Amino acid sequence: MAVRSIVVVPHSVLTNKASEIGNIDEKIVKLAGDMSETMYKAPGIGLAANQVGEPLRLIVVDVVYAYADPANKQKQPIVLINPVITHSEGESLREEGCLSVPELSVEVKRFERIQVTAVDLNGNPLVIEADDLLARALQHEIDHLNGNTILQHASALKRSLYTRRMKKRARH
Ligand code: ZN
Repeated sequence: MAVRSIVVVPHSVLTNKASEIGNIDEKIVKLAGDMSETMYKAPGIGLAANQVGEPLRLIVVDVVYAYADPANKQKQPIVLINPVITHSEGESLREEGCLSVPELSVEVKRFERIQVTAVDLNGNPLVIEADDLLARALQHEIDHLNGNTILQHASALKRSLYTRRMKKRARH
C-alpha cells in the first residue's frame, strides 16, 4: 500500500462523474488499500477515488478512527464500490471540510439518515444503514463520485472569493 497525493480543486477529475467499476481486479484492490492509507495519513474520515486521480466509483470511509481513544485505535475502513443511496430521511446542517478543497469550510445540508447499497472488494453486495456523521461522510464521498465538492454547496460569493484566493496562491 502506498500513500497517494490528493488532487485539489480546480482539477477536472473532481468535477467529472466517476465511472462504475465492472471488474474488481488487483488494481482496484490495491487502489482501495492506497486510498485507506492516504485517508489515515491526511488525516481524513473519507476519500473518493477521484480525489487520488482515479475516476472510478470507489470510496473509503472511517468515521471512528479519527475520534477514537489513542490507546485503542483500530483502523477499520469501510470500502464501497459503486455506492448508491437507496433511501434517505430527515435533514441536517453542518460545516464540512474537504481534503480536495483546502482551507475552506462550508455549511452543507445533508440527509440525516440514509441507506446505501454497494459491493465490497470481494464483489459481495452490501447494505449500510447510516445516520449522523457516517451518513454525512458517505453523502460527501458519493457527491465526489458525481463530480461535486463542498464548493458546489457554497454560495456563489464564497465560491468566487475562494477560487480567486487559490488562483492568487498558485501564482506565488
Ligand atoms: Zn471531500
